[in-house]
Amino acid sequence: MPSIKENYLKVMERAERAAHKAGRNPGEIKLVAVSKTVEVARIKEAIEAGVSIFGENYVQEAQKKIEEIGRPVSWHFIGHLQSNKAKYAVSLFDMIHSLDSIPLAEELNRRVEKEGQTVKVMIEVNLSGETTKFGTEEAKAFDIARRVVNLSHLSLVGLMTMPPYFDDPRLSRPYYIRLRELKEKMVREGIPLRELSMGMSNDFEVAIEEGATYVRVGTAIFGERKK
Ligand SMILES: *Cc1c(COP(=O)(O)O)cnc(C)c1O
Repeated sequence: MPSIKENYLKVMERAERAAHKAGRNPGEIKLVAVSKTVEVARIKEAIEAGVSIFGENYVQEAQKKIEEIGRPVSWHFIGHLQSNKAKYAVSLFDMIHSLDSIPLAEELNRRVEKEGQTVKVMIEVNLSGETTKFGTEEAKAFDIARRVVNLSHLSLVGLMTMPPYFDDPRLSRPYYIRLRELKEKMVREGIPLRELSMGMSNDFEVAIEEGATYVRVGTAIFGERKK
């Protein structure tokens, strides 16, 4: 079995190749190593290999890991966030990729205010309409974005999406194009977004070709997750 380091280097190499193919600077693409269900020892192995950002889906699971590993690395929240977990999330994570409603934005803002800082957020957009996926529908994304821009303790940096799973990664492309176009539209309307969080183990190269600035890769680094 290849080591985490070998996997990580391979992912970085693939990302770099995809960036060059698209005429992009590989330096503008950041890797979020998705470490849900991955135990601390293996996360430490990834840190040794050079990983500097980890993505977690569950607040409680992440809390334990962050207490143990600390912050030589950055922690991003990528799962579905319930309002009652907002107060923990803002003290644990440097960035939240999965903001999907105005009430959640307001709750996060209120919680960050108490800590006296700001938290970076992205709006998760559900472009497929699949009910099994979280995220706001595209039509509501603008309303959420306008509201977040006016909340002084949240810093809106970008958009995130998760397309349906396809064996053929090329089928993800239309979703990634739509997210990029939505971001461009928001920028034209004065909402200053920089980031696109899109692309997972099976399709991150396609996402990079379409403008991803964060790719969220789990399986290709840590291997198959235990169910
Ligand atoms: C689990 C997860 C990933 C990583 O998926 P892999 O296919 O293992 O790379 C990325 N994004 C989100 C939101 C996830 O929940």
